[in-house]
Amino acid sequence: MSTPLPGTPLPPLAGGAGGRAALRPLLDTVLDALHEGALARGGPIPSGGPDTVAQRLLDATATALPDTGTGAEEALRTLVQALAHGAADPADPLCVAHLHTPPLAVAAAADLAVSALNPSMDSWDQAPAASALEAHVTRTLAAEVYPHGPAPDALVTTGGTESNQLALLLARERHGPVQLVHGANAHHSLPRAAWLLGLPEPVAVPAPAGVIDLAALDEALTDLHHPLLVAATAGTTDTGRIDPLPEIADLCARHNAELHIDASYGGPLLFSDVHKHRLDGLDRAHTVTLDLHKLGWQPVAAGLLAVPGTAALTPLAHQADYLNADDDTEAGLPDLLGRSLRTTRRPDVLKIAVTLRALGRQGLAALVDHTCAAAQHLADLVENTPGLELHDRPTISTVLFRPTSASDDDIATIRRTLLTEGRAVLGRARADDRLWLKATVLNPHTTHSDLKALLSLLSHPSLPSPLSLPEGSTHR
Ligand SMILES: *Cc1c(COP(=O)(O)O)cnc(C)c1O
Repeated sequence: MSTPLPGTPLPPLAGGAGGRAALRPLLDTVLDALHEGALARGGPIPSGGPDTVAQRLLDATATALPDTGTGAEEALRTLVQALAHGAADPADPLCVAHLHTPPLAVAAAADLAVSALNPSMDSWDQAPAASALEAHVTRTLAAEVYPHGPAPDALVTTGGTESNQLALLLARERHGPVQLVHGANAHHSLPRAAWLLGLPEPVAVPAPAGVIDLAALDEALTDLHHPLLVAATAGTTDTGRIDPLPEIADLCARHNAELHIDASYGGPLLFSDVHKHRLDGLDRAHTVTLDLHKLGWQPVAAGLLAVPGTAALTPLAHQADYLNADDDTEAGLPDLLGRSLRTTRRPDVLKIAVTLRALGRQGLAALVDHTCAAAQHLADLVENTPGLELHDRPTISTVLFRPTSASDDDIATIRRTLLTEGRAVLGRARADDRLWLKATVLNPHTTHSDLKALLSLLSHPSLPSPLSLPEGSTHR
């Protein structure tokens, strides 16, 4: 065994008696480095494209594992600044490509406490209060989804992908190899989960108008052999549309198929009195996926899989003597292994719990309402800008638009040019057989002038089909 050399102090810990004194100056360093990195970037994403960004990062960091360390202050300053300089920053209102949320300050601060305490959610003796908090908060959130459920409960996951996998796994454990029937508008993680779980090849039902075609679903459910699991989407990734949930639930009931609803994006509409009616029918699903790192403003990861009753989760029961020995469980130590397929697991529930308490239902509703209103305003602006075409009024906060005179290739080039010049981070989506620019508005602080600025970027002369050019002057 080696002992440290005299004069070489060991680095301090985040927790324990010295944690506060050790962390406070380091946090100042981190906050300053974040600020300086953002100033150096000067926009929603660094300019120059992948090679420039990678080279700048390598230049700043030099060797990743030096023989002699540079010390905590220098390492934090250098790497945090480099990361912030090279970030796609969702807190910038022109960063709207994906369901990539700007996290709330309160949630990020709560996450620091998790890093310092480092509870692990695989056994009670590693997370006594954190496991109790998780049980409390997941039941509360599940009751929002299933107000009439016998014992609403939810698992905390890394996001929609894991939640969807668990939903398929639970269906398989109930019924054997279920056939997944999903809309063509469903998230790619659903067919991938069917592949992962060795289920029959999934069936994709057409969604020509962006939502599942009910007649086609009816036909598929009539023709296919059981057991069947239908996956509907409340908030599609491409357009933010919500499948007709009550009608789909009716069809599932008529054909004796199970229903999973992927509400990764739309789930938090539940908090808003203005918008929650769009999720009518949600509680008729056997399982519901929610993602609070999208419309819930949480740092990654903050996923949930809700079920109407805890009993639905029993297939996940699992035993490992060192974590949940029978006699420990009988003696009253909570058994956590059945709450996830992961073993070591971060208590992502703390930032969620702190956010729910800090904002309350009204505060969350205000964030949802502001965000949806910003998207409606963007749609208004598009409709009122000559030379721009709006795909459709937004259902949640996704707006698809395109310069009228642009070809699909132009759209792809416009997006990449704005990205590599560091001006804006817009997404792309195919709808009605055409390519569109996609703005996924998630930043509740977005102002009308931010949205105007976003659209005015489209008249930049470096772009194909710039808006100021008369129509028809570009190739099709
Ligand atoms: C984002 C999303 C997912 C995947 O969620 P992750 O958190 O990225 O794993 C699944 N379904 C839908 C509809 C989504 O929007």
